[in-house]
This record gives sequence, C-alpha cells and structure tokens, in this order.
Amino acid sequence: MLGNMMQDQLLISGILEHAIQTNPNTEIVSHTIEGSIHRYSILESSKRAKKLANALKKLGIKEGDILGTMALNGYRHYELYFGISGTGSILHTLNPRLFPEQVEYIVNHAEDKFLFIDLPFLPLIESVSDNIQNVEGFIILCDKESMPSDSKLKNLMCYEELIDNESDEFQWPELDENTASSLCYTSGTTGNPKGVLYSHRSTILHAWYACAANAMNVSSTTVILPVVPMFHVNAWGIPYAVAMFGAKLVLPGPHTSGEAITKLVQSEKVTNLMGVPTVWLDLLNYTRENNISLDTVNSVLVGGSAAPRAMIKEFQEKHDAFLLHGWGMTEMSPLGTLNAYNSDMQGMDLEERYDIQTSQGKAIYGCQIKIVDDEGKTLPNDGESFGRLMVKGAGIIERYFKSDETALENGWFDTGDVSTISIDGYMRIVDRSKDVIKTGGEWISSIDLENSAVGHPGVSEACVVGVLHPKWDERPIMFVVKNNQEDCDKGSIIEYLSDKVAKWWLPDDIIFVDELPHGATGKLLKTGLREEYKNHLMK
Ligand code: ADP
Repeated sequence: MLGNMMQDQLLISGILEHAIQTNPNTEIVSHTIEGSIHRYSILESSKRAKKLANALKKLGIKEGDILGTMALNGYRHYELYFGISGTGSILHTLNPRLFPEQVEYIVNHAEDKFLFIDLPFLPLIESVSDNIQNVEGFIILCDKESMPSDSKLKNLMCYEELIDNESDEFQWPELDENTASSLCYTSGTTGNPKGVLYSHRSTILHAWYACAANAMNVSSTTVILPVVPMFHVNAWGIPYAVAMFGAKLVLPGPHTSGEAITKLVQSEKVTNLMGVPTVWLDLLNYTRENNISLDTVNSVLVGGSAAPRAMIKEFQEKHDAFLLHGWGMTEMSPLGTLNAYNSDMQGMDLEERYDIQTSQGKAIYGCQIKIVDDEGKTLPNDGESFGRLMVKGAGIIERYFKSDETALENGWFDTGDVSTISIDGYMRIVDRSKDVIKTGGEWISSIDLENSAVGHPGVSEACVVGVLHPKWDERPIMFVVKNNQEDCDKGSIIEYLSDKVAKWWLPDDIIFVDELPHGATGKLLKTGLREEYKNHLMK
C-alpha cells in the first residue's frame, strides 16, 4: 500500500523561494575581481536570478539546454546557479585550471550552448574558441564599463546589459525533480574527463543531509566562506545550503591568499571555512607569522585531500576552531563522510581526539559506505581490514554523462579509494588505489607518510610515490618542499618519522624540490613524478 502524502517535487527554484520567504535579508558578500566588496541580500539576488531567467528565455534557451560557466566564487555566479537550473536548463561549471585541450573537450562533449565567463578567463576561452563550434554566444560576467573592447569571440554579450531591462518576476516551471540541474566533469588525471550530471533531487537531498547538525551543522547563524570553488562540484553544495538554511555567504573571488582570507574572515565575522588543505597551509602560515587568531571561526571543513594532524592541532590550539575533516568526490555531489564533533569526543584528551580527527569520519546520513575485497566480498568494519571503498545513496552517480553503461557494481559505486572502517563507523582512507605503495607483498599508505612528514617544523609540503625497487618491487620516495622556518635535511626528516610510522615505511630517498605539481582541483599530481623517477632506485 502506498502512503497518502503529497508528491511535492524537490526543486532548486523551491529553495530560492523558501529563502525569500524565511530569510530575505540574509547577506551574500563578494570580494570582487576588481577588489571591491559587493554586498546584497538573498532577496536581491533572487530578483536578479529571475531577471536572468527571463533573459535566458529571450535567448531561446529551453529545458535541457546546457549552459557553461567559467567563473570564480562571486555573486553573479551565484545568480547563475539558480537562474539557469531554476528554468530547467543545466548549469555546467567549467574548471579554469584545466588545460585548454581539456576545456575544449568538455565544452564540446557537453554541447554547451552559451558560456558565461569571468573576465580573467577570457583569454583561455578565446584560445579554444575556434574549436568549440556549438557555442552560440559568450556572456561576460561584468558591467558595461568593464566589457573588453576587442575580442575574437563572436556574439559577445555583457551580463549586466543582458539582465538589465528584464522583469524581476518569473514563474519557475514545475519540473520533475529528477530533471538534470547541473553538470561537473571529473578532473581526468587518467583519460578524458567524465561528466557527472546531477538532478534537482540529488542536489537538494545532498545539500540537506550535508548540513545536518551531525554533519556541517549549517543554520541562519552560520557565516560561511567557501574557498572551495563554485566551478568544482557546486562548491560542495554550499550555494544551495545557504538558501535552504539562511546562512550568510561570503565569497572570496580570486582573493584566496592567507592574508586576503584572514581579512575577509575578520571583517565579515566568518564562522565556517571550507576548502582543500593547501589553502589552509597558506592561511596558517600568514596567521602564525602575524600572530593573529581567527576568533570568530568555529569550524574549518577540510576535504579533497587528507587533513594533516598538525593542521588539526594548529586550528584547534591557535584559533579555537574545530577541523571538520570530510571526504567525498565529484561522483558523490560530493560529501560522503564527515568527522564531526560527536558524543565519542566529549571529554576526550585533545591529543587522542586529534588522532581520531585524522580519519575521514563517519558516513553522513544519505550515503552508505562499505569496504570489499577484489572479488567484491564485504570486509569487516574492524578498523584493520582494508579494501575498496564502495558507496550508495541519493547523491551518488549511477552512470556518467552520455554513457550507456552503469557505473555501478551490484548497485554500489567503487570510489577508487582504499580504506578501513572501524567498529564505531570511522572511515580512514588508506590511499587512492593507484597511489598505494606495494612493497614485498605489504602496503604502505602514501597519504599517511605525507601527513606525518608535514608535522616536521621545516616541511611545508610532502609527496610520496612508489618507485621500482630491485628487491621489494616498489619502495616509497618522498619529495619535500621546505618552509625555510627551521633546518630540515634528510636525516632530520627520517629521524622525525621514525617514531610515527613503521620502520619499513621510511622512504628510501628524500628529494627536496621548490614546488610540487598540483592538479586542477588542488590535489598532488603524482603521475608525472612517478614516471620521471620510476628508475630512481634501480641505479
Ligand atoms: P574533490 O576535488 O571535490 O575532492 P574529486 O572527485 O576531484 O573531488 O576527488 C575525489 C578524491 O579525492 C577521492 O576519491 C579521494 O581519493 C580524495 N579525497 C577527497 N577527500 C579526501 C580526504 N579527506 N582524505 C583523503 N583523500 C581525499
């Protein structure tokens, strides 16, 4: 027997209407590309999203059309999130850190009809414009005065002019909640990038469960500053969540240095930060050097790569901020697990708690997790057995965009990560399955080694890869970027690591470099180093 309740559709336009009714004055603050601070309410934002929706109609945009954006975290991008998806067309966020060939591939694969571009990315789009023939026009996210006078792009429009004379009233269509709402491509470190096509339903459920008290704990008293870009996995769902729960949103634009973020945190009284570990290294360096404590910050969500213990400790002890360690991926909308403050941690010794916080946390409601062996047999949650981490839930991919094949294995998605799960539900990433180092039949976690090394006072960043070894098949070597604050040589790093990892995990060599290669989403790019150094220990 079916229940008797309404089949109200979960739509992105619905969260905007909810925001207007419940928290119309909630602020959205943007540090603009030009350097000024722009500030308006969610009510004003929604009016402009409706003007945009009217303008899109005039451009001939229909339901299911895909519209690309290449833009930073700013208010106009925020309007696009709602104006595009609300009308039933699809918001396709493009990552400007990708190589031009990848951008070209993605725009063509998605068949983007129009591109909305922040000015700094105009040269990149111009460089590929001859090869992206589907695009009918280019809209620059700026006012009339800032429009470029000469550009090779055909049908170039100004965003402010486009929406200026439109009505700020718009009747959102009543879509099926399974309608596609946005599209994001994986960064494609191996092979071509693959598209993940989110629906209104998946987007809303994800934002909803990711903001629960046991997860990100977002409410109308939260002031949230996502450094994580709006061009990658919908900024972890935050643009939707702030409308849903009335949180104030602070968008940093291109100003993401430690100094710029510190100033924005102080002037806007930010309570929640979110981003990948590398941006926090810079923030922590800046605040340490200038003896600043970020007093308003309660929580720093760190994901995308593992959060080092030293970072967890410094945020707690210097800033009284809890490092909320999270894990997920583009295919998961992205959040899957979060290490939120919980009853286990009450009264716990801090050093013991930091150890727990280095794990990626517990599954959030909405995402089931399990580990399996190579044959697909479920492994025990005993904190020691490790295997392929599989996920299932309403925010998780079923198939890649334009693929006829399911991406699932018996109804579960293989994340490509190897992990353990403890008896009380803490998931700990051991490694990406392709990065784990197999030495003499045993496994070494490159992530654990890297995170232990950055605790050394002279180490700014570390990267570990497995390379060929005549006796052990593979052995780890470590690349280190020094921070020039404290003396640091091979001997001192090995000595520092000796009581933190098993003796046979110690790297066979340590190589000092000026910088490490990062991919388009800020992660260490190990492929090139692995290739270049593959015979390093064979000589
Ligand atoms: P995102 O950049 O949003 O993290 P991607 O899809 O580009 O999404 O990357 C997902 C991968 O990043 C995961 O499969 C995992 O290997 C890695 N990752 C994400 N969060 C963490 C974390 N907290 N610790 C370790 N690895 C992580």
